[in-house]
Amino acid sequence: MAKSSITPSQRSTGDMAPEEFRTAAKDVADRVADYLAGLESRDVLPKLEPGDIRKQLPTTPPREPESLEEILDDFARLIEPNITHWQHPGFMAYFPSVASGPGILGEWLASGLNSNVMFWRNAPASTELEQVVVDWLRGMLGLPDGWDGMFTDTASISSLLSLVAARHAVDGLDSRDQGLAGRPEIGRLRIYISDEAHMSIDKAAIVVGIGRNGIRRIPVDDEYRMRADALAAAIAEDRENGWIPVCVVATLGTTSSTSVDPIAEIEPICRREKVWLHVDAAYAAAAAVLPEKRGYFAGWERSDSIVFNPHKWFFTPFDASLLFFRKGDTFRDAFSLVPEYIKTGVSDEARNYNEYGIQMGRRFRALKMWIQIRWFGVEGLRARLREHCAWAQEFRTWIDDAPDWERLAPVPFSTVCFRYCPPGITDASEIDGRNAAILDAVNASGQFYLSHTKLAGRYTMRLVLGNPRASLDHVRRVWELLRKVAR
Ligand SMILES: *Cc1c(COP(=O)(O)O)cnc(C)c1O
Repeated sequence: MAKSSITPSQRSTGDMAPEEFRTAAKDVADRVADYLAGLESRDVLPKLEPGDIRKQLPTTPPREPESLEEILDDFARLIEPNITHWQHPGFMAYFPSVASGPGILGEWLASGLNSNVMFWRNAPASTELEQVVVDWLRGMLGLPDGWDGMFTDTASISSLLSLVAARHAVDGLDSRDQGLAGRPEIGRLRIYISDEAHMSIDKAAIVVGIGRNGIRRIPVDDEYRMRADALAAAIAEDRENGWIPVCVVATLGTTSSTSVDPIAEIEPICRREKVWLHVDAAYAAAAAVLPEKRGYFAGWERSDSIVFNPHKWFFTPFDASLLFFRKGDTFRDAFSLVPEYIKTGVSDEARNYNEYGIQMGRRFRALKMWIQIRWFGVEGLRARLREHCAWAQEFRTWIDDAPDWERLAPVPFSTVCFRYCPPGITDASEIDGRNAAILDAVNASGQFYLSHTKLAGRYTMRLVLGNPRASLDHVRRVWELLRKVAR
C-alpha cells in the first residue's frame, strides 16, 4: 500500500488521522476488488489442519503501535488465503452466502456511520429506512399489506423471537412475568416441527423453556414434506393428554432437500387449533420474488411469522435475516421494556425496534439491502434467481438421464440431492461409502465444494446454486468432475 507519512511512533493519541484513513481505505477497497476478481485462482477449501493458522499468530497483542502496512501484509499472508471461500463460484455446499458488490459497499457505508438502530431517537434515518426496506421486501415476496417485520442477525434468532411471541400468545400462560418453572398448574408446552426441520428450532425450544422433549416431530411423506394429517392427529392426541400446543413451525425449503411443507393444509389446522404458525423459509423465501414460484408459498400469508435470510440466496453480505410478522403487537408485548434511561419523549408513532426483540443495540442492516435492491432492481434479482433455478433443472436432467446416478428428492428451487448408484452394488453401506469418497475427492480438487446430508437414511450429495458470479459452465464442470471421480 501507499506508505503513510505518519509512522506509528509519531501518532497522536486520537483515532487514525483522516488522510491516513483515506489512503488506507482506498487500499482496502483495492484488496477486496482484487480478491473478488481472483477468486477462481484459489482452492475453495484451503488445505489446512486445525491449529495451522493459530500457531502462526502471536499469542499476545503488540505492546506498541504497528504500521497498517505490516498488519495488512499479515492479513494477506495468513487470513485471506486461509478461509473457506464462500464467495467462490465453486462453493456449492450448504446454502449459499454470497456478498454482492453493492451489498459490500452498503456494509462499508454502514460501518462508517456506525448507526446503532436501537430506537428512533438514536437512529432516525436508519429506523425509517429499515421500515421502508422491510416493506419493499414484503411486496417483493408477495406478502399482503398488514405484514411488518425487522432485521435480525440470523434465522436462528428470528425463529427464537417467534417462539417467544408464540408462547406469549398462549392464553393465561403469562410466561413473560411468571416464567415457566415451578408452576404445576400449567400443562407442558408443545412445538410441532417435521422430521426435516432445522436444528435452530430445537435450539429455540431449549432457550424458551419448552425443552427438547417439548418438541413433537411430525413424520414426512416420501417427498420429505410434513404430513398435515399426522400433525392434526398429534395435536388432538396432545390436547387429550394435557399438553398445550404453542406453535407449529412449517419449513418452506428444508435444509437437507429443500422440501416444501404443505402450508395450505397446515395453516387451517393452526387456525382451528389456535396455534401460532411460524414459517421457516430461511433459504427458499428468496424464490417468492418469482411469480412462477409463488405456488410453493400459497397460504404463508395467513401464517403468524416468517423468517427469510437475505444473507442466503439473496446476495446480501452476512448477516441479514428478516423476521416478518403479522402481529407486531404480540412481539412488542412480549419483549418491550422502557426503563428511564431509554425514554426519549418522541411520539409513539416512531418505531423503536429494540422493543420487538432481545437486543437493544442493532446493526444498520437496511442500508446494504436498500443499496443492493436498487442496484439490481427487482427484475435484476429475479433474472439471477431464475438462472439458478434453470441451472438446477439442467443438472437434474443430467442426473435423471445417467444410469449410474440417482436423484433423491424433487428440485423445487436451486438445490439438487443425488447420489452415485451404479446397478450391481446393492449393499447400502457400500453405496454410502462410495458417495462419501466421491464427495471427498471432489472437495479435494479445490475447484468445487459440495456438502452432504442423509435422506431416508441414504448418504446424499447436495449441489446448491446461488452465486451470481457462477455460470452454467461451473455446473457443467462439476458434473464432469463428479463423473470422472466416480469412474
Ligand atoms: C440456514 C437455515 C437456518 C439457520 O440459519 P442461520 O441464519 O444460520 O441461523 C434455519 N432454517 C433453515 C430452513 C435454514 O436453511
